[in-house]
Amino acid sequence: MLRPAAAIGRIGTESAFEVLARAKALEASGRSIINLGIGQPDFQTPPHIVEAAVKALRDGHHGYTPANGIAALREAVAADLNARHGVDVDPDLVLVVPGGKVTMFFAVLIFGEPGAEILYPDPGFPIYESVINFTGATAVPIPLLEKNGFAFSAEDVLSRITPTTRLIILNSPANPTGGVTPRAEVDRLVAGLVRHPHVAILSDEIYSRMLYDGQRHVSLLQYPEIRDRVILLDGWSKTYAMTGWRLGYGVWPRSLIEGATRLAINCHSCVNAPTQYAGIAALTGPQESVERMITAFDERRRVIVAALDALPGISCVMPGGAFYVFPNIAATGIAAKEMETRLLEEAGVATIAGTSFGRHGEGYLRLSYANSVENIRTAMARIRDWLARRTT
Ligand code: PLP
Repeated sequence: MLRPAAAIGRIGTESAFEVLARAKALEASGRSIINLGIGQPDFQTPPHIVEAAVKALRDGHHGYTPANGIAALREAVAADLNARHGVDVDPDLVLVVPGGKVTMFFAVLIFGEPGAEILYPDPGFPIYESVINFTGATAVPIPLLEKNGFAFSAEDVLSRITPTTRLIILNSPANPTGGVTPRAEVDRLVAGLVRHPHVAILSDEIYSRMLYDGQRHVSLLQYPEIRDRVILLDGWSKTYAMTGWRLGYGVWPRSLIEGATRLAINCHSCVNAPTQYAGIAALTGPQESVERMITAFDERRRVIVAALDALPGISCVMPGGAFYVFPNIAATGIAAKEMETRLLEEAGVATIAGTSFGRHGEGYLRLSYANSVENIRTAMARIRDWLARRTT
């Protein structure tokens, strides 16, 4: 009888991957499925980025790189953060990792242990709660409410801090809601955090380029009063349509960078070299493809919100960022998980139940609009017809 550690029994998952597998299986059996489930751009990685990786391979970049990432890439990250957020970042505090997820995994491993409390957004990216539970720490949800546009409330977050709180996880623009927390609320939170110097902050800003209506991104790096305890998570997956390349980074406080780098050395050694060269090309090359993608998402956002709002029993707030909508389905009388299953099986539309993102997601569905306007319209028509013909 094998005896794995208890922690592995506490780890969760990301059900978007399960829905994707089910959708693919249905498609293989001949069904037409429109996938509004998975959170990845439906665009190709821009060609100049692909070329940089191919060239790196041809030029013989086949070996290990420094564990924290090649210097030119970390310098490009620092320059990009300076250009976008107006902050000075020491490239030595940048840790390049295989995907955005790795920074959150390391941050939670560094702070999580039995007796520690970690605050995380609910509904939120499911891996936060999963890894907190894995470490044996207590996962304390920060409820995100529709009436606040799914932004967090500073007062609410601050009220949940105790002497055993080690880490607060924040995410704006947010998955799964598309919610964006306004600067005034972030200002209030930071002012309050000054009174809690024992608390670190993991700011997941992976959607920082995906903002609409002329909004400017608020980065937690912009607050000098908490800079020595902010871990910034960002990466290439969403911005440059590079989800499969596995490339992300963290900007770490000086007191944590060595521990985080050791985790990298113990875990994956370094990100593969050609992908790092692709990352440099992405940050330093032309940005038109990013702008084109965001313009396309903006159009789809309006199309999907209007279509959802027209469905009986469904209402949808206009998201300010990312590429998700989080419609309220409570008035249909169908629970979120059942709705997810039935829309997939009976209507041919893949969506994700709000409860996959925490218990405060009951009564909601997540739809990704990283799909063509035509497919979005067809999916909405399928949902409308299904709602009209269902008998239970
Ligand atoms: N953070 C959030 C909020 C996300 O939605 C995702 C991916 O969906 C990630 C991090 C992870 O990104 P990556 O695919 O680069 O690991």
